[in-house]
Order: sequence, then C-alpha cells, then structure tokens
Amino acid sequence: SISGDVAGESEKIHVSIRLRPLNDKEMVKNDVSDWECISATTLIFKSSMPDRSMLPSAFTFDRVFGPDSGTKQVYEEVAKEVALSVVSGVNASIFAYGQTSSGKTYTMSGITEYAMADIFNYTYQNQEREFVLKFSAIEIYNEAVRDLLSSDPSPLRLLDDPERGTIIDKLIEETVEDWNHLQELLSICEAQRHIGETALNEFSSRSHQILRLTVESCARENFGSGNLSTLTASLNFVDLAGSERASQAWSTGTRLKEGSHINRSLLTLSTVIRKLSKGKYGHIPYRESKLTRILQNCLGGNAKTAIICTMSPARCHAEQSRNTLMFASCAK
Ligand code: ADP
Ligand code: MG
Repeated sequence: SISGDVAGESEKIHVSIRLRPLNDKEMVKNDVSDWECISATTLIFKSSMPDRSMLPSAFTFDRVFGPDSGTKQVYEEVAKEVALSVVSGVNASIFAYGQTSSGKTYTMSGITEYAMADIFNYTYQNQEREFVLKFSAIEIYNEAVRDLLSSDPSPLRLLDDPERGTIIDKLIEETVEDWNHLQELLSICEAQRHIGETALNEFSSRSHQILRLTVESCARENFGSGNLSTLTASLNFVDLAGSERASQAWSTGTRLKEGSHINRSLLTLSTVIRKLSKGKYGHIPYRESKLTRILQNCLGGNAKTAIICTMSPARCHAEQSRNTLMFASCAK
C-alpha cells in the first residue's frame, strides 16, 4: 500500500560502481590509481598500502565501470531498463551516490539526458497509447525542500495524501510540451542550482537534487474517459549529497543527532536501502527524512531502483572510496 512502510515482495536494487579517471588536480599531486576493474563485475584494490589489511581486495557488484567507460555505456547497461519501466506504469529511481568530486553530477546529468530522450522516443512512436509527461524538480538542503522550477526559495511543505502518499505542497509540475520545452526546464533547474552554489560554498556537496518525470498514459481510444487502463508512474533522477556527509556515521553506527553536521536525508537513505536490500519485512524508516519520504513510493516494493556509486581512483581518496564500497556492498 502507498502509506505502508513495510516492504513486501521487493525488486532487487541494482548496484553498480563507476570509477572515474584521475583528474588534473590528482595528477598534479602525482597521485595514483589504486583500483582496477578486472571484469564486468569485479573491482580490485591493487596497491599495497599501510592499511591494506582493512580492505578486502576484490569487490563484486552487478556491474563495475572503469575510467574508460563513457556515460552512454553506463546508461545503456544499468539505467535504461529502469528508466523505461516508467512508461509501463512502474515507479523507478536512479541514484548517484559517492563522495564530492567523484562524478555524481557528471554521471547523473548524462543519464538524465539519455533516459529522457529514450522515453520521448518511446512515447512518440507508441501508436496504442496516448502519453502525458510532467516534469518537476527539487533540491533538499538541510531538510528544507526547494522548488528548482520556482524563483521563490521558500521551503515547501510535505503533506500526507491518503491516496498518493507523501506529496509536496505547491510544487510546480510542468506538463512537457515537447523536447525543447524539456530542455528549457532542465536549464532552469541548472540555473537555480548555480544560484545556490554561489550563495553558499559547498552547497552542492550538501544538497540532494531530484528531477522527476511523471508519465501518464491511457489506451488511445479511451483517452480522456478516465478508464481503468490509465497508467501513471514517476521516474526520479537523484543526485545525492556527497557521501562524506554520512558514510562515517553510517559505517560506525553513530546515532544521528539534531544539529550535527551529518546529513539526515543521506543517512536515512542509507539505512532504508540497507534494509530493503535484505529483502525482509519489518520497519523501513522512510518517514525519518525528507528525501526518503518523498521517494517512498519510488523506492522499494515494486519500484525499480538502480544505484550508481561513483568513485575517485586516487590514493588520497582511498578511505572515502572504501566507505562508498561498503555502502554499495550493503545495498546489493
Ligand atoms: P560530484 O557531483 O560527485 O561532486 P562531478 O560530477 O562534479 O562530481 O565531477 C567532478 C569532476 O570530475 C568534474 O569536473 C567532472 O567533469 C569530472 N568527471 C567526473 N566523472 C568523470 C568521468 N567519468 N570522466 C571524465 N570526467 C569526469
Ligand atoms: Mg555534484
């Protein structure tokens, strides 16, 4: 049920790793890559380091991508099927998780673009059903939800709707007219994000961005009749806050304190995902953060979920990379 917080028969969460190339900053410092993808599913830690004993040396996931894999390949192999399920009425979420500068935004913006193009093509070509696409976008910073399509920065409230679950009060939901309109909406979000970043340093490392495409459809001859063959589902593209905001607390089991530097939404999401991945029933704490409340219907249960964990290969980031792999291991 929509309001229930107990997981039933669940879809497995698809977990992949994307290792980016060393960047200029890392190369200037003569940093080196400690990681290598030795197969499509296995990543190894290949260097000798003082704390090597703390690390298993091989990690296996649904899919691992090395520095030579482009975003198109990542999309095709781990996100496309999840994204396209929205046209058949199945809710879905695609997450980028990783420390700041590991490639979350790079990966997610490319995937968003490819997914939207595929969904557009599918809906235009489909002769049997009539589709309506709606777009909305929010950012969550310090547990305050802001509409990225609005110039008003005031926080939005979450409400509980008996039929639809958690809804965001006064959120702008634009009906997408065509491909150009969608590009315009995306650039409005982009511009709003930049305003946030200049106003406050490190904003993007602390905030979560959710772009949501809602797809409604009904069989062509019944269009507008409110017939039962109507399907509605949402697809969420989630660019998470930097995992350095939660990974330590999460891996050491530290309790979340009010006013601490720890990101409540990120920590709660980690817990929700870990519980969902166990595939067992019981209490899932969706209601403990804004992010997980908003995503409740699109995370777990019958919803399709893919998490792409992004990693810097640099030795100077080895500890955060290890935390990312620990999160990824618990999610799979
Ligand atoms: P994050 O959103 O996790 O903080 P970004 O996506 O902004 O990180 O990436 C940090 C920098 O690294 C950016 O300049 C980005 O263009 C670059 N980058 C990230 N991933 C890749 C990749 N797979 N290939 C090439 N450059 C990348
Ligand atoms: Mg980013």
